[in-house]
Amino acid sequence: MFCENCGAKMPDNAKFCGGCGQRVGEPLKGSAPVAPPPPQEQRAYTPPPAPPQQNPFREERRDANPSAYAMGALSAPLTMGQYLVMFLLMGIPLVGLILLLMWAFGSNANINKKNFARASLVLSLIAIVLWVAIGGIIVSLFMDAFRGGYYY
Ligand SMILES: [Zn+2]
Repeated sequence: MFCENCGAKMPDNAKFCGGCGQRVGEPLKGSAPVAPPPPQEQRAYTPPPAPPQQNPFREERRDANPSAYAMGALSAPLTMGQYLVMFLLMGIPLVGLILLLMWAFGSNANINKKNFARASLVLSLIAIVLWVAIGGIIVSLFMDAFRGGYYY
């Protein structure tokens, strides 16, 4: 027989190779068939399955849908009749202002009505400031003219 490692000729009943010392019947030194550990490490690094965590989140989203439908109702466009009623109510001196404040800052008012009310309030605020300023100028002009008349 011949040595598996170096190929040297040796007796059939020899337990060790005379040339290299390789033990007869044992696997070669260079080609160890032992399974390497990396596969186990890869198993350890694989993340745990996520689907069970995603399911409750989706159920929460399903629960949130009814409120989303309510939001859709609150953001629905106003009809011509609703605008007509709004304008008529706004025409009432004090009630109109209270309704505008309710629509502008109320939590369950339609978003279009709310934005319209806020815009109307800002516009009326600007108008009041302008009227006060113009009125003040006019009054001061009249006062100056009145005073000037006395001086002459
Ligand atoms: Zn040998």
